[in-house]
Amino acid sequence: AAAQRRHQATLTEVLRKAEDAFKAQLRTAPRAIEYLKGRGVSGAVAKTFGLGYAPPGWRFLSTVFPDYQDALLVDAGLVITAEETAGADGAPAQEARRYDRFRDRIMFPIRNVKGETIGFGGRVLDQGEPKYLNSPETAVFSKGHELYGLFEARTAIRQAGYVLVTEGYMDVVALAQLGFPQAVATLGTACTPDHVRLLFRFSDQVVFSFDGDAAGRRAARKALEATLPWISDTRSAKFLFLPPEHDPDSFIRAHGPQAFAQAIQDAHPLSRFLMEVASSDCELDTAEGRARMASQARPLWGAMPDGALKRQLLQEIADQVGLDPRELAQLWQGRASGTT
Ligand code: ATP
Ligand code: MN
Ligand code: MN
Ligand code: MN
Repeated sequence: AAAQRRHQATLTEVLRKAEDAFKAQLRTAPRAIEYLKGRGVSGAVAKTFGLGYAPPGWRFLSTVFPDYQDALLVDAGLVITAEETAGADGAPAQEARRYDRFRDRIMFPIRNVKGETIGFGGRVLDQGEPKYLNSPETAVFSKGHELYGLFEARTAIRQAGYVLVTEGYMDVVALAQLGFPQAVATLGTACTPDHVRLLFRFSDQVVFSFDGDAAGRRAARKALEATLPWISDTRSAKFLFLPPEHDPDSFIRAHGPQAFAQAIQDAHPLSRFLMEVASSDCELDTAEGRARMASQARPLWGAMPDGALKRQLLQEIADQVGLDPRELAQLWQGRASGTT
């Protein structure tokens, strides 16, 4: 365990050194500077988030780390080894087949809650694919557990009394610049129960603001499921739905901070969103539709811990499906479905 901690500390040092090198590169890369300016990113917010630039070419990091062959660079997720061809003819082919993972990309350092750099997201400057490249899972980085911007946002979250959860790096950067420094982002993955538990350590109010497109809507449903086990009568979540053509970054740049603040005001409470999801695709004017809703509501309701909110929701669901709450609870416990 002590050896593992030493290894992790070494990795975060390596990543910190790479971060500094990417930052220095950004200062001398007009294309990258123009890209960020074109997206409205100020120098100040770029500095807050430690944005940088990985130059083109295969081995920029060999100029930063004299021992480019050090396995630490691979362990840190910075260098890739093309292992499938390594040593095919008995030669130390690996040495010739190492190259930088991040090339010609805007670099977003990802930090843990202690402020240590644990990985990167890298964005292409043009239409290249993939648009974003993230660090792989390493001894210090697990994307299902980390949230981009949480370290930078921690004080603002406490001041605002809520945390805003978005999908993207640029959403966090734009929101911070335009008056919402309490924003974080999931790292290109669905919001997990571990994410939500972490969020509730910082605030008892979570506001999800995903993209307005179909993917964002799916992400919101996933976030609902991830949130339900942690909800209580004092810890709650809201869901903000943007117009289909927008994400938080584009919305706040198009409509301004006031409109975004209003959208937060108008966000759906978890209870309302749960009822919408439970009744989706259900024709409630038919017995079949109401039965379908009862079936869809069951796992959502069941995932919540007991409390006043849960009991009220049982009542609401029962009203919608046209059953008495006691009957509905019995149905869900399987007692009323027996044959005896
Ligand atoms: P931008 O505004 O820079 O175009 P975005 O954040 O709006 O990007 P989305 O397509 O909405 O991009 O994706 C949301 C997030 O999902 C990204 O910020 C990134 O973290 C992740 N992501 C997107 N595309 C990829 C990809 N090809 N590989 C890995 N992660 C990705
Ligand atoms: Mn999207
Ligand atoms: Mn975007
Ligand atoms: Mn987006």
